[in-house]
Amino acid sequence: GLRLDLLSEDELRHLARVVARLESANRDALTGLLNRAWMDEELPALVERYDRAELPLTCAFVDVDHFKKVNDTFSHAVGDEVLSAIARLLMLGVRDADPCVRYGGEEILLFLPGSDEADAIDASERIRANIAAHDWGRTAPGLAVTASIGVAERVAGESVRDWVDRADAALYAAKRAGRNRVFRAERPS
Ligand code: GH3
Ligand code: MG
Ligand code: MG
Repeated sequence: GLRLDLLSEDELRHLARVVARLESANRDALTGLLNRAWMDEELPALVERYDRAELPLTCAFVDVDHFKKVNDTFSHAVGDEVLSAIARLLMLGVRDADPCVRYGGEEILLFLPGSDEADAIDASERIRANIAAHDWGRTAPGLAVTASIGVAERVAGESVRDWVDRADAALYAAKRAGRNRVFRAERPS
């Protein structure tokens, strides 16, 4: 093990900063997912690499359906449990290295390097089905949870903002169409 007693004060301070960074800088405490700082710090390099290699890179924007109602009907604590369970279901549904980001309260962005739109729709559909089929009654009797997903394959050169906005628009269309479904994004105009 590491002998803390052998470290200088400077080294200890450095170690504390490293630990703090691992714990908070890029990971969300509730879900264990990456947080939005990751999108600023790491995503641009990933995007550039895939654009330059002309490899597909697709994002999937996941939003829990009627989540406010889960909080209101069951409790905020149950809502928190739902979010961490959804995060685990998402991580099980993608490859180990695929970045999963907690984008907002109950919004999660999956980045699927090497997946084109069709691959990402398959993965998203599996994830959607796993969430809907999960035994939520074990979390709280009577609880049922679904999520909607908008999928957008990158067009090389578009901004991250435009790309994520297209996934968000597809998500919005999935909500409008009745929720618990996966929609593909429009191509950029
Ligand atoms: P829609 O199907 O249209 O997405 O409806 P919604 O109720 O899921 O969407 P809305 O954006 O109205 O509500 C999101 C809710 O998520 C409101 C907010 O209180 C809750 N929320 C955000 N972050 C957390 C969190 O960390 N824990 C819990 N328990 N709730 C959260
Ligand atoms: Mg929601
Ligand atoms: Mg939302």
